[in-house]
Amino acid sequence: MTVPRFIGSEIYRGSSYGPWHPLRIPRVSTVMDLARALGWFGAGQYLTSPRAKPGALELWHTPAYVAALQAAEAAGAVSEAVRTRHGLGTVSNPVFPEMFRRPATSVGGVILAGEVLRESGIVHAPAGGTHHAFPDRAAGFCYFNDPVFAILSLKANGARRVAYVDIDAHHPDGVEHAFAGDTDTLMISVHEERRWPFTGALEDRGAGEVWNLPVPRGFDDTGMEMALEELILPRVAAFRPDAIVIQCGSDGVEEDPLSRLAMSNNAHWGVVKALKARAPRLLVLGGGGYNPWSVGRLWTGNWAVLNGCEIPERLPAEAETVLRGLSWERASRGRNPPEHWFTTLRDVPRAGPVQPEVRDRLKTLADRAKVWA
Ligand SMILES: [Zn+2]
Repeated sequence: MTVPRFIGSEIYRGSSYGPWHPLRIPRVSTVMDLARALGWFGAGQYLTSPRAKPGALELWHTPAYVAALQAAEAAGAVSEAVRTRHGLGTVSNPVFPEMFRRPATSVGGVILAGEVLRESGIVHAPAGGTHHAFPDRAAGFCYFNDPVFAILSLKANGARRVAYVDIDAHHPDGVEHAFAGDTDTLMISVHEERRWPFTGALEDRGAGEVWNLPVPRGFDDTGMEMALEELILPRVAAFRPDAIVIQCGSDGVEEDPLSRLAMSNNAHWGVVKALKARAPRLLVLGGGGYNPWSVGRLWTGNWAVLNGCEIPERLPAEAETVLRGLSWERASRGRNPPEHWFTTLRDVPRAGPVQPEVRDRLKTLADRAKVWA
């Protein structure tokens, strides 16, 4: 067994979607800096992400869209026609300086992940997870759909059956669009109900391997533990995957500004830990996450879980300096961050009674699985 690999890039450092956009904050660079400060990159573990070439991107995106995105980056502007046709230059998918190179690097990273995982192993690519992009269209802060390329690359490199588990607060509409009809791809999503993109209904089945659990606001660690035990682990076990991809968006934690879910990072780490040994290949992606402290601490903790590193109660000074160096402009919670955002990775767990809707929906899904068994 080789050591886990981390795929990162300096392109994410200082890159911003613009001063008012939720993605004005640093994320991947924080994880890289924290992991380095904690001594969690051993020899050969950090890999620099290549950038995917247009030809590779056209395996799933349309040539017209790939060209439009390149042209928009070069010109720093889009026409009205391009905005309408491809969803570029909008409030959620703005024109910004690295708008082609940055997402193309995230795709290059997950294609590399598939190659690294040719035999077996573990890869963390926190820049990945942009699950809302469509073949001809940007949406929901996503330009290219790197989770789709992650699954395609794993399959091109020898994995026949891939389980995709998405615990972002938002439903992965672009990934479901790509694989709902494929019985060799298991799709599980736990996401907030009645939230954009308003897809991901409990009733969706695709060709038989689509499992959606919409959850109400306030869904916490206990709810995710139940979803893990009653939905994620049984479905993954029954599917017998050659590879597992986890989209580990951190926007379902309580301090995130874009959802009303109430998990702590312990919930996410629990899912990653439980899935770690369930297939010979594991790829953990990032995803949403719009509080710079929450997202940096959560994804760094994922790397600790994957390596079996002990997460210290109180961070060493060098790691604390990384967290104290972050700022969150134009956000009320950025004004007076609580002390533990600087001094810890682990949140205080958020447990509570499981919501009745969660119980009922898990039973509905379990009953469906029984019928089909
Ligand atoms: Zn999200």
